[in-house]
Amino acid sequence: MANFINVILPIPLELSFTYSITEEEAKILQPGMRVAVPFGKSKIYTGIIFSVHQNPPEAYEAKVIHEILDDYPIVNATQLKHWEWIAAYYMCTLGEVLRSALPGAFLLESETLVLRNTEYDIDENELLDDEFLVFEALQHQSILKVQEVSAIVERKNVLPILQRLLEKKVIVLKEEVYEQYKPKLVRYVKLGEEHASDEKLEELLNSLTRAPKQSQVVLSLFQLQAKSQKPIKVSELEKLSNTSKAIIKTLVDKGILEEYFIKTDRVSYDGESDNSETKDLNEFQEAALVDIKSAFGENKVTLLKGVTSSGKTEVYVKLIEECLEKGLQALYLLPEIALTTQLISRLQEYFGEKIAIYHSKYNVQERVEVWQNVLQSKPKAQLVIGARSAMYLPFSKLGLVIVDEEHESSFKQFDPAPRYHARDAAIVLGHLHKANILLGSATPSVETYHNAQTGKYGYAEITRRYGNVLMPEMELVDIKEESRKRKMKGHFSERLFLEMEETLKDGAQIILFQNRRGFAPLMECLTCGHSPQCPNCDVSLTYHQYRNQLRCHYCGHHTALPESCFACGSSELDTKGFGTEQIEKEVTALFPDAKVGRMDLDTTRGKHGYEKIITAFEQQELDILVGTQMVTKGLDFRNVNLVGVMNADSLLNFPDYRAHERTYQLLTQVSGRAGRTKKRGRVVIQTYNPYHQILKQVTNSDYEGMYKEQLYEREQFKYPPVNRIIKITFKHKNYNVLNEAADWFSGALRSNFGGTVLGPEYPPVARIRNQYLKHIVIKVQKVHSLAQTKANIRRIEKSFKSVAMYRGVRVIYNVDHI
Ligand code: ADP
Ligand code: ZN
Ligand code: ZN
Repeated sequence: MANFINVILPIPLELSFTYSITEEEAKILQPGMRVAVPFGKSKIYTGIIFSVHQNPPEAYEAKVIHEILDDYPIVNATQLKHWEWIAAYYMCTLGEVLRSALPGAFLLESETLVLRNTEYDIDENELLDDEFLVFEALQHQSILKVQEVSAIVERKNVLPILQRLLEKKVIVLKEEVYEQYKPKLVRYVKLGEEHASDEKLEELLNSLTRAPKQSQVVLSLFQLQAKSQKPIKVSELEKLSNTSKAIIKTLVDKGILEEYFIKTDRVSYDGESDNSETKDLNEFQEAALVDIKSAFGENKVTLLKGVTSSGKTEVYVKLIEECLEKGLQALYLLPEIALTTQLISRLQEYFGEKIAIYHSKYNVQERVEVWQNVLQSKPKAQLVIGARSAMYLPFSKLGLVIVDEEHESSFKQFDPAPRYHARDAAIVLGHLHKANILLGSATPSVETYHNAQTGKYGYAEITRRYGNVLMPEMELVDIKEESRKRKMKGHFSERLFLEMEETLKDGAQIILFQNRRGFAPLMECLTCGHSPQCPNCDVSLTYHQYRNQLRCHYCGHHTALPESCFACGSSELDTKGFGTEQIEKEVTALFPDAKVGRMDLDTTRGKHGYEKIITAFEQQELDILVGTQMVTKGLDFRNVNLVGVMNADSLLNFPDYRAHERTYQLLTQVSGRAGRTKKRGRVVIQTYNPYHQILKQVTNSDYEGMYKEQLYEREQFKYPPVNRIIKITFKHKNYNVLNEAADWFSGALRSNFGGTVLGPEYPPVARIRNQYLKHIVIKVQKVHSLAQTKANIRRIEKSFKSVAMYRGVRVIYNVDHI
């Protein structure tokens, strides 16, 4: 009898592809193993076996496979089920899921480019003959294609050779040349050996009488040494002696001071600290833990809502501890790993070597290692911490899933497919494993809170900060009023300016938050702060320069650019908005003595950009940090006493039905950065609308009020959680074809769904890389089955694709678009 396998290829094919295998191969091949297979005229791909069977394909002659790459499955049955769910729910192909799930090093193919790995010295004697040939060729030519490797070793099947070379760290893959993680180095100083004794010091100080600044540095160093045994940071010394880096450097150059570095590795565990005992919970944490466990007992996904700094992490720790004791694996998902190194070192104190960290930006080898460790349930991968891609790891006995900061929108993958929400996909994964699932946040998403309110999810809460630290004191400042009284210094109100002055005088630090995202600008009245709204959608209209219009990018409503404000009639309208860069400039001018840093996409792009800025701020080399969203996330700076929000209106007016929810979350999170230790922190929020509901809710910590109001509006306008949305994007290089195609599709949808189809509408940026874009948004009401709706959409897509003219139009689905 003939034998076949179905293979998932890492390309967007509707179906898995069938290949023929021999009787012998049929005995060893299992789902989840990798095979290299030919595809098209000359391509070779690595695919994953989906099934082994005896049914020949009907439409084509099955080709034979190229070779078998694994001795055992590297993807387990639960994962394949999970992938199928992702593909079906997010309307993409299994191949797209495969590509997003597996580390690139697992997916060698004919188009892969390989390079010499310059990080390691290779002992040529350890290479087999064929490996050596490739190694040698890479000495002469910096990049080789897999096909060229074929020619060099005179074999067709070269993927195993490359696999071995990767394992031996001889080569790296082109698309995988990520920056290696480099531990951060902190600079410390001590007195040079020869000046260590008392007399020698006396001598030294005498020799420095003509250099008072230098002698001040030496004295300060002494003072610091007397206080504690700890190594002394250059920044500390600089501060205490009130001098500059240059003077310290002079002393180092003279050999009076010695400079040294200590590696303070933030991510990898140094193995030094023993596993410390976990902390005893206080009564509030204890009560939350009891509630969580009782909800787990009913097999419910559970929400832990705890104010910032309430000690949620310590509650997670207890649950993780129990899970690991049972011999089960735990998954801890975070929105953004680069920003949570502080958290990781905390967990490492408790769980030490049991922790594996997984992140798509880690290098190939590290990711493959973690994959293998999880696959084999190794002790060193019992607790996996990672951003969204960590949920793809081959868990076999997952006992606990924690999604921290569950409200964060960065859990949703935007591009490419699968456009999954890692929180939701992790919940499904947890269910497949019958694991306990906990979502945590100080400001839960409306969806999750709704699920808790309706009893679908379990619920626990902590309403106090740990150690009775007070919540920061919040103040709204009316910049309309201050402008009128001519009290503004640039974008700074007098109130904020004075608070800043005070804080700097106290030697504390400041965070200034200015939101600016790369979106089409809004229209804002300089007199009253009003921003025109869409009458149908309850979102702000965006300004489209090329047509000089205001448009709603949900429903397409548009009006000509007004000459004067709809609300107050003022003709001072502004469309520009202001960014972090401008704020940084102003601060520098207002506080010339303060050291100011900026954290936004532009300043964090490079090598470990985040780390550098966070470290500088943490070590108090900066007094003021100006930043976007990035400064709001989970950072725990001990010395921040003031948080200033430059303009809350730019958040509120964001053209999205979630703008108000997000504003609440962002402002609450950013405020949570202030006063995390004894001294009560202060938050100053500048706004044109001090009476805005959301801002009042933020300052009163009235989450409940925010939730009720938002839920009501979502119900009114048929948005999630009451309904679901699917966004369809059409892309084509020809404007007319795109328009016709989108009209055709929306017409077909309308005759199926009636009034719940919005658009087609141009996004604010309607052409990207010479491709025109149009969106349709479908609101699926709870009474309708989501699966049925998707099936209908698919059916429409099929007829759509049969129209010759539309064949080149790309159709992109985003289910639960946020
Ligand atoms: P959250 O995650 O809710 O913002 P954290 O878990 O970061 O709060 O806790 C805030 C601070 O309180 C941390 O410095 C933490 O070490 C401390 N803390 C929390 N719970 C305890 C506890 N039970 N015993 C001692 N310290 C605690
Ligand atoms: Zn609208
Ligand atoms: Zn106005």
